[in-house]
Amino acid sequence: MEKKVRVRFAPSPTGGLHLGGVRTVLYNYLFAKQHGGTFILRIEDTDQTRYVAGAEEYIQDCLKWCDLQPDESPLHGGEHGPYRQSERKETYRQYAEQLVKQGQAYYAFDTPAELDEMRAKFKTEENPSPQYNYVIRQQMRNSLTLTADEVKSLLSEGTPHVVRVKMPDNDMVSFTDMIRGEVSFNSSLTDDKVLLKADGMPTYHLAVVVDDYLMKITHAFRGEEWLPSAPVHILLWKYLGWSDDMPQWAHLPLIMKPDGHGKLSKRDGDRLGFPVFAMNWTDPRTNEITKGFRELGFLPEAFVNMLAVLGWNDGTEQEIFSIEELIERFSLEKVHKSGAKFDFEKAKWFNHEWIKKAPVSSYKLQVERLFEANGIIIEDESKFERVLELVKDRCTLLTDFVHQASFFFKAPRTLDLASVKPKWNEDKAMFFDILSEKFTVLEEWNTADIEAIFKQTAAEKNIKIGELQLPFRIMLVGEKFGPAVFDIAALIGKEETINRIRFALTQF
Ligand code: GLU
Repeated sequence: MEKKVRVRFAPSPTGGLHLGGVRTVLYNYLFAKQHGGTFILRIEDTDQTRYVAGAEEYIQDCLKWCDLQPDESPLHGGEHGPYRQSERKETYRQYAEQLVKQGQAYYAFDTPAELDEMRAKFKTEENPSPQYNYVIRQQMRNSLTLTADEVKSLLSEGTPHVVRVKMPDNDMVSFTDMIRGEVSFNSSLTDDKVLLKADGMPTYHLAVVVDDYLMKITHAFRGEEWLPSAPVHILLWKYLGWSDDMPQWAHLPLIMKPDGHGKLSKRDGDRLGFPVFAMNWTDPRTNEITKGFRELGFLPEAFVNMLAVLGWNDGTEQEIFSIEELIERFSLEKVHKSGAKFDFEKAKWFNHEWIKKAPVSSYKLQVERLFEANGIIIEDESKFERVLELVKDRCTLLTDFVHQASFFFKAPRTLDLASVKPKWNEDKAMFFDILSEKFTVLEEWNTADIEAIFKQTAAEKNIKIGELQLPFRIMLVGEKFGPAVFDIAALIGKEETINRIRFALTQF
């Protein structure tokens, strides 16, 4: 019988969530939904030295913003909890002990000073940081070199020690990656990773294997940076006798710097002026704020769509995908093997497309908050929606709405006189004077009637309409931008239109 699909995103709560992390979430989510499976969020917080307060809540908030919610998590619970590794501490030791008993792991008593000494002693030009491996372990203080009695007494005295995996010498470790196909490593190239630390906490290597097993994970997707760790994990699955239950692996290609040279880092974002984190992240140690896509004005639909196609396409030219379409079309076989270059301009293009495509009601509240932050309080919600509808084609980021639409709610303080003055004359002043009189008595206030009166008056005065529209725009908007000027007048209302004309006439 086919096993029920169970996938996991397993971040360490160490800071802001990189867009590569969100893409890993997304691919997990899509795969789970496509197969009627379960998507799990597991917090890998066994490394207390890297733990950062607030990072877990932040990750959960990011998933919520992107609407990629897990089925099981520390928040949502589930049958295979706890979902925080620090709360599973007691689970891991028995497996480390089992491996020691089987001769596939060993106790190592080396002190930090002894480890430094080893590095200094074996350092060469070609090998500047020698590893604790199948050669060097022979010369260190561990249960492979000490006698059974020595080991026993060190343990009974409570001597600090770690458990290390005994990597075989010159063995080929192979597995099939869903993206890369057959992958092989020579085991001699990997050091004897620590599995259990002196404080009794497992390292990532032990915890990831134990938890993937206990949580019945069927497919494990993670960034390519974990590929070098794969041989250790594969061997642990084998040594613990769980090979038949091992998940299928997929190591996702890296997201690269825009120039294609190396992995995109937070520093690249700072340097090049774009975000790499999903949402604003405030480092609790320094209070430094790193900008996120959300606060910059991205829609979650656009952010998710952009990430989906950063390293995957369905073989067609289509670029805009809803989450439903992604669930239907996504396939790991079509994920590219090589890294995907990040292109911020393209990311903004996705956002622009989604601002046009999504119903304004879905982002109205966010825009309203931006308006509030700029001192504009929205009183008429239905007018607000009509305004957003009218200007959305001109917005790339949600923050663009502030510039594109503020004038609907607040008369411009300064007018672009330079665009009007050179061609301004008495006739035009007269035209607008008459126009505002006619507006006063106009019964219906809509685009068509406004336009009709405007054209009729221009004909009477014998002035080309083209010469009048720009001054009218400057009167209403203050500058040379915005949607059709008659639509603007219709939306800002009769009284306000007349007021703005009258005020402008005192300035021109
Ligand atoms: N805890 C690892 C990380 O922080 C997870 C790697 C994996 O998914 O196996 O990315």
